Amino acid sequence: MPLPLDGTFTYALPEAFAQKVKEGCRLTVPFGAKKRYSAIVSRIHDQRPEGYEVKEALELLDDAPILLPGQLRLWQWIADYYLSSVGMVYKAALPSGLKEEDEQTSYRPKMNSYVQLTDAYAQQQALMDVFVELKRSPKQAALLMKYIEVSKVVASINLGNPSLKLEVEKGELLKAADAHSSILQALVERGILEIYEKQVLRLEHDEIPTQVLLRPLSPAQQQAFDAILAAFQQQNICLLHGVTSSGKTEVYIHLIQQTIERGKQVLYLLPEIVLTTQLVNRLKRVFGGRLGVYHSKYSDAERVEVWQKQLSQEPYDIIVGVRSSVFLPFQRLGLVIVDEEHEQSFKQQDPTPRYHGRNVALVLAQMSGAKTLLGTATPSLETYYNCQVGKYALVELFERYQQVTLPHIEVVNLAEQRRRKLMSGPFSDPLVVAIREALSQGEQVILFQNRRGYSPNVECHQCGWVPRCPHCDVSLTHHKRLNQMTCHYCGYTIPIALKCPNCEGMQLDSIGFGTERIEDVIRRLFPEARVARMDLDTTRSRSSYEKILSDFQHGKTDILVGTQMVTKGLDFERVSVVGILNADTMLNMPDFRAYEHAFQMMEQVAGRAGRSGKQGRVVLQTKTPVLPVVDMVARHDYLSLYQTQMEERQAFRYPPLTRLIYVYMKHRYESVLNGLAYDMSATLRAVFGDRVLGPDTPPIARIQNLYIRKIVLKIELAAPIPEVRARLRQVAQYYASQPQFKSATVYFDVDPV
Ligand code: ADP
Ligand code: ZN
Ligand code: ZN
Repeated sequence: MPLPLDGTFTYALPEAFAQKVKEGCRLTVPFGAKKRYSAIVSRIHDQRPEGYEVKEALELLDDAPILLPGQLRLWQWIADYYLSSVGMVYKAALPSGLKEEDEQTSYRPKMNSYVQLTDAYAQQQALMDVFVELKRSPKQAALLMKYIEVSKVVASINLGNPSLKLEVEKGELLKAADAHSSILQALVERGILEIYEKQVLRLEHDEIPTQVLLRPLSPAQQQAFDAILAAFQQQNICLLHGVTSSGKTEVYIHLIQQTIERGKQVLYLLPEIVLTTQLVNRLKRVFGGRLGVYHSKYSDAERVEVWQKQLSQEPYDIIVGVRSSVFLPFQRLGLVIVDEEHEQSFKQQDPTPRYHGRNVALVLAQMSGAKTLLGTATPSLETYYNCQVGKYALVELFERYQQVTLPHIEVVNLAEQRRRKLMSGPFSDPLVVAIREALSQGEQVILFQNRRGYSPNVECHQCGWVPRCPHCDVSLTHHKRLNQMTCHYCGYTIPIALKCPNCEGMQLDSIGFGTERIEDVIRRLFPEARVARMDLDTTRSRSSYEKILSDFQHGKTDILVGTQMVTKGLDFERVSVVGILNADTMLNMPDFRAYEHAFQMMEQVAGRAGRSGKQGRVVLQTKTPVLPVVDMVARHDYLSLYQTQMEERQAFRYPPLTRLIYVYMKHRYESVLNGLAYDMSATLRAVFGDRVLGPDTPPIARIQNLYIRKIVLKIELAAPIPEVRARLRQVAQYYASQPQFKSATVYFDVDPV
């Protein structure tokens, strides 16, 4: 059932369709007093359960299963591992068109009417004779002539085809003939033509570019390719650690080709925001109609069609998709590619199941007997550790395509620049100089600031008052163009204050720089430059996102300002300068992975510079140039990052050397929440001892009127995880049954990122 419930229910099958039901089909079933749901048949049996009255299923929704046998097993794995429930996995897995029995939202195939000759007239002689018969009906004769023309009957006769059953779309025929449908109807009544309905796939509407041949691999790429294939002889999982612009995508393309030639399918998994038209087109040029795309920004109907195609006799050989594509049915999966495997956005945050797309992909591959290739320039510590201990094979590709050198990174000390009064707003002197040089040579610039809006804070000049969200523990972000202040956690929005409600002061200062403000400043500094901004606010729709990228790619903009969206997998030829405006916001994150993530983000955005031909240049601005991690970014030194971080993780017992489970608790009233948090942490300590930390108040302690507490569980790798999970479920159930805590929300985040 698509409900947050574990386990299955038994229903009786009525005579009418009892014989037709198969495991993996959907049934409409009654539930509770009035509700009905579409449930999935997991097992057909003949044992009447005891203790409750068995209700009858109402309707069979599918002639054939919509799930393949292995899929329920994967659902169960996810539900168990992530402390969720199969019902919630069901909700996450199916596109809504397949899970609602509501008429409004359920999937309706798109049908079209077509016209063809009936059997009796689908031969040359009969067709010639019919025109004699139609002598007195010139309009019908004209329409039939048009059919012959549009359907290319003559060409078919010339090719010697015995049957002339050629289909023409009804609307198209009527339009070409400029005829009324009653005339067509007359021909149907005479038994000459027939009309029938057929499903058209929405997906096949986008044109598929012509196929091109694979581009030959460079010697370094060929070596990596061979090494990956060799690794797959011994092991199931391999990491391709390839620097930015080394041509990892090219290596993937050759592996995909090799896999589909063997008659196997490929799943190519990408983080949401990397899945651009740029990449899809690159793949479609090679694989054409054998490639399907599965994306949350596609309509639900399109996703239903991809799902059904994967169940059909002719599934796509290749699926490119975001994390939810691990739920698609695959009949003969041979290879899974997880690109940018280090990306945190593979993890689903809300709602449950809080699964990690990469890790579920690994399990899916294992269940399907497929191989997995993880690829990135900046591996997650988890993955690199697994290579070190021999669980995964490691293949390295440290040469950029055409041997372009990695960008030169110049670290600029913000404190010193400020002291010497060299700053123009958020821009240091070296960055301004670099931008000017790039523009004068017709080159492009990317500016990275990990904050959207105009300024993260507004402050009264006189008394220091800061506008805050009434529902969350955060200050409001100023959005200048909209003249608003907005909470980035709940969306609460008010007009920008004109004076301080506290002291009536009229001067309100904007503190700090978001992308919107960076854009303003850069326009003032370089009035002749064409500037675009890419962040959540400018990319609400797929089309606006694509437009910003394509304008930049075609040189219609010179400077692209953006949040982390500009750091991901984009390939532009003319970018020579990248500015990282404030490394400290990343380095100071209150998280044990702050340095790892900061390194990854900076190395990735730096990698956008100098991708073809010439060495790029990166200006990295920071108040803390002395931090070793800054130097590691400057030297592109992943290995040192890995080693130093692993020492810390070892010392403080953090992943990948332990497993983490976070327990979150939320409640309207802080006092109730505190009671629950302390009670629960004591209960957990009784079971897990000093593996329990907290309760903690997270940095943002209240969101949408709910206070939040967090308990951390650090579990050694060798611990019996199923037992740990069982105990945690027990504890959660116990608190859910306590009257004073029933109104609280408790949930788990397993392997948080
Ligand atoms: P990565 O994914 O490692 O960052 P890409 O696969 O995007 O690198 O390659 C970087 C650029 O080099 C792209 O523009 C790509 O088209 C080009 N390139 C890489 N390998 C080849 C090749 N073998 N033949 C032609 N072009 C290549
Ligand atoms: Zn004030
Ligand atoms: Zn809020």
